[in-house]
Amino acid sequence: MSMAQTAEWICTRCGSTNRRLVADGATRADDACVTCHAHHVLEADARPVRWRARPA
Ligand SMILES: [Zn+2]
Repeated sequence: MSMAQTAEWICTRCGSTNRRLVADGATRADDACVTCHAHHVLEADARPVRWRARPA
């Protein structure tokens, strides 16, 4: 059974909070900020929901 988790990340350009559904167990994802559309690479952090984001 495949599950999904929420990756929450903060845009480094505008500071908006973004959320993306990723596969359970995933540690990397890409997303674009919903507000300013800057692309970011996301990496799972020790905290389960908040992911690290860096510009891509
Ligand atoms: Zn942004």
